[in-house]
This record gives sequence, C-alpha cells and structure tokens, in this order.
Amino acid sequence: MSNLIPTWYSRSIYDIDIDKLKENNIKYILSDLDNTLVGYDIPTPNESVINLVTKLKENNINLLVISNNSYKRLKTFSNPCSLNFLSRARKPGSKKLANYLKENNIDVKDCVFVGDQLLTDMWCANKLKCKSILVDPLQKKESIFTFFNRLIDKKIRKRYHKQGRLVSIMKGE
Ligand SMILES: [Mg+2]
Repeated sequence: MSNLIPTWYSRSIYDIDIDKLKENNIKYILSDLDNTLVGYDIPTPNESVINLVTKLKENNINLLVISNNSYKRLKTFSNPCSLNFLSRARKPGSKKLANYLKENNIDVKDCVFVGDQLLTDMWCANKLKCKSILVDPLQKKESIFTFFNRLIDKKIRKRYHKQGRLVSIMKGE
C-alpha cells in the first residue's frame, strides 16, 4: 500500500501553507472537487473557495479542478472563478489527466495534487509521480459511490497517522 502515501498532509485545502508550496516550486494545484474544495452537494464556489483562488493567484499559483464528477457539475462550479477543469477524470486512472497536462503544456514537476481520497486521488497522483497533499474530507455526508472506498480509506489513513508517515504542510507548523 506504499503507492497510496501522499507527499504531505493537511487538515483541509484551506490550511495549506502557500509559502511552503512556493518553496517547492509549485505552480499548479490540481485539486479534487467533492469533499476537498466543497461538499459534494454544494454546486458553486463559496467564500472559502473564492478567497483561496484569489490568494493563490497573488502567489502565481493556478488552481485546476480535477474530478470524476460530470461535465455539468464541474462547469457550474468552475465558471464563476474562471477555473480550468477536467471532468470524468477516471481517477485513480492517470491516463486522462496525463493527457490533459500534456495538452496544456503543464509539467507534472510543477504540480501538486490535492484530494481527500487515498484510493482515488493519492493513487492517481503517485501513478503520475506528482507531489500530493492528502486532506480530510470536508463533510461526513457523501455520495453512495464513495461509501465503500471511505471505509478502507479510514483504516489506512489511521495507520499512516499512527506510523507518522503523514508530513504536515499546514500553516503554522
Ligand atoms: Mg473527493
């Protein structure tokens, strides 16, 4: 299960130390949507998202939304902040994302993948040899599709915490 270990850990995407991202020459955040940026039932960006996007822009970091969810969901969410996105990404598969990065001339070395699921987000990132940040899911509530993954995820995550394998990239630490 070593292919699931993230580079870093943060409680949420909103707790990430942006200075540390800059120290690591990160120019792009590839972020999962559901339970990473907002709960899965929230259709449009809230104040936290808007503030984060603004702050990242000031630091020359681009936020891209990479989700297995539908084009409609991604378009509705991404348009208000003019975010680029990839829908139906087929994570943990990495082929579609690899092609997307290539088409947009984005070097994976300049990216960090942020997501709340070990079995989709972190696995995908590690296949791409992309740096990654595991976050806690924003809400307990979630779609039936992620319920079983979450049971396994919880067990592995607990073990990683116990073994001290999760390196913090949070502000003030
Ligand atoms: Mg998610």
